[in-house]
Amino acid sequence: MTRGEVFLLLSVPCFAEVIWYRQPSVAKLRSSPGIWHVRKGDAVATIFTKIIDREIPADIVYEDDHALAFRDINPQAPVHVLIIPKQEIASLNEITAENQAVMAHLFSVVRQVAAQLELTGGYRTVINCGADGGQTVDHIHIHLLGGRELSWPPG
Ligand code: AMP
Repeated sequence: MTRGEVFLLLSVPCFAEVIWYRQPSVAKLRSSPGIWHVRKGDAVATIFTKIIDREIPADIVYEDDHALAFRDINPQAPVHVLIIPKQEIASLNEITAENQAVMAHLFSVVRQVAAQLELTGGYRTVINCGADGGQTVDHIHIHLLGGRELSWPPG
């Protein structure tokens, strides 16, 4: 094999990779914080992933590297915020020893958002799990409800 042929053999895959890397869709993935982490695993992307990726609008009240909080589109109380991890975890049933720190972080965000939204009289957190639990979006989320006295038991 000539030197020219060796050069061609080595350079073609490199050029192909550079072209792929420069595509706008790939550039968008590169610029999204933590996106590679989010895409790992078998979880299916939901509407909440589109909110994380800013593909659909939401009234975001808090964000950090691992979590997002935004107002529920169909509020059940004066304050109704959803706190979600950026990692795609479908439900409480998917919490394991490996990812359980996500839940601790989400609850620390609950406390911060409750203080930020001045829920000084108290509040309620709800995590629906599965069909019987009333879960409609398969991306784990904590409902933070407050701003009025909440009755018990829930329906
Ligand atoms: P759950 O029924 O526990 O799964 O809660 C899902 C929540 O997501 C519901 O309270 C919905 O009103 C809310 N929801 C669905 N789509 C959106 C959206 N695009 N923006 C904000 N909240 C939403």
